[in-house]
Amino acid sequence: MTAPIVRSLDALRDLTRTWRLAGDTVGVVPTMGALHQGHLSLARAAREACDRVVVTIFVNPKQFNNPDDLENYPRTENEDALKLAPIGVDAIYVPDGDTMYPSGFATNVSVEGLTNMLCGAARPGHFDGVATIVTKLFLQTQADKAFFGEKDYQQLQVVTRLAADLDIPIEVVGCPTIREEDGLAMSSRNLLLSDRSRIKAPLLAEVMDDVASALREGQRMSDLAPRAEARLLAGGFNSVDYFEVRDGADLSMLDQTKPNARLFAAAWLAGVRLIDNIAV
Ligand code: AMP
Repeated sequence: MTAPIVRSLDALRDLTRTWRLAGDTVGVVPTMGALHQGHLSLARAAREACDRVVVTIFVNPKQFNNPDDLENYPRTENEDALKLAPIGVDAIYVPDGDTMYPSGFATNVSVEGLTNMLCGAARPGHFDGVATIVTKLFLQTQADKAFFGEKDYQQLQVVTRLAADLDIPIEVVGCPTIREEDGLAMSSRNLLLSDRSRIKAPLLAEVMDDVASALREGQRMSDLAPRAEARLLAGGFNSVDYFEVRDGADLSMLDQTKPNARLFAAAWLAGVRLIDNIAV
């Protein structure tokens, strides 16, 4: 049976109030829909850790810095509900734009420092959009735990920071990246790849694995990055937004590996921006 779809904030609050009165813990899994096994792994983690689970689906205009990207973003609500059915989540919250940004909406949540690099530098305003909507979802659901994927590692750090800074009583739980068999990190945007591009896409993860091995052998990123970028371009990628190794906690830039180092990459393939990151 598919979970009830809740569209209004009042209905969501009625539901979560009943749960909390019964002493149940609540987990929230924020998504933009077009669910794949990566999202479902978060829903399963929430199902295991919490008495009640809400998956939210909202394609958040405020975090898109490109109108075409927003317009083309896949929307598959019915299929999403069917995919969640076997996991047994308790509700799917699908607010509309007016519920999330009513007329007169004027507040912006902005996390400094962590957001001025990587995807923050490449996508101005993106993380303000993420931070604002996630804050609203935390407050609307009043969940005890929130589940996010390491696939969007910088987002996971930003969300963890904002919950701590704003004293929102929620535990942010990071979950591992789920990949296709050929290594490509699952992403809703993969649906936008043509068959030809889909064949080229796993090169990103392959190059990252090779660079991570070279870093472990003591090589420097300043030597490795130009060669990695050239390999991606030769393999059909159009451009590289970033290919960097950084500290996994404060995201400061590194040239050589050290404990907790992570490799981050974002690259364009035929109009689709792919991102990935791995522990070194
Ligand atoms: P999105 O719908 O792309 O905004 O993603 C919603 C949540 O799913 C975020 O916490 C993502 O990090 C997570 N997610 C997306 N892709 C994956 C993946 N391949 N593995 C694990 N989590 C993922």
